[in-house]
Amino acid sequence: MFKKRYLLILLIILVIAVYGFVSISQMANPDGTNLNNNSKMAREVIANNSAEDLGTVEVIKNLGNPDSSKKIAYVVGVHPLENDTHKTLLKLLPQQTDLDYSYDIYVINVTEDFSSYGKLLPDDNPGRDTGQNLAYKYVYPKIVNGSYELAVDVHAHGGAYPYNTFVFSPVDGGLGESYGRNVSQSTENVSYYNPYQTTSGPYLTIPLNQHGVPAFYFEENSFISQDIKDRHMLELINGVDHLKL
Ligand SMILES: [Zn+2]
Repeated sequence: MFKKRYLLILLIILVIAVYGFVSISQMANPDGTNLNNNSKMAREVIANNSAEDLGTVEVIKNLGNPDSSKKIAYVVGVHPLENDTHKTLLKLLPQQTDLDYSYDIYVINVTEDFSSYGKLLPDDNPGRDTGQNLAYKYVYPKIVNGSYELAVDVHAHGGAYPYNTFVFSPVDGGLGESYGRNVSQSTENVSYYNPYQTTSGPYLTIPLNQHGVPAFYFEENSFISQDIKDRHMLELINGVDHLKL
């Protein structure tokens, strides 16, 4: 009899403790992005949809291991059309709890004239131009002056390339290329393939490579299933984290 009551009290205490913990976690993370209980994670708005910008830019800081002295930047949203792959990174990177380096994600959000795969505008170019301009105006100066070891610009494509999933630096012969090749070698499904034609290179990855921050593209096929996109993105995240910087 005594034992039963004892067990019951123990159970009630346990339930209250778990409920309290979950409530506190939810209060701290109302949008569910901070899943690794990383108290150093911070968001900063860099550009807020002024009349000439037609979009916003923000940075999510201190993901991965914020105590690391090595910082890497990811960029999403340069081409708004490709947002399924951007969302995949935004979902998965904040969930990782065992990364060695510190990560910031720059998020460009074009608010006018943007398309997405499956919902194409007749003319996608205004949204693409806006994203590229926001990258050059706001993201490039932050990364080039931000003590980053590497920048990864995340894109997607419609299947017109010989590989579904690949990385490349638009500048041959530098650290951007060698980091990209290392990531490809250490992953199962990420190829190294330079198509030698990008519209966005001059707005971000080319000047970064030319001014001291190695940078490469990640490209994913928008038309493969989400679970495979997730798997490929985790390969990228871990491949980048295993680079010797
Ligand atoms: Zn693109």
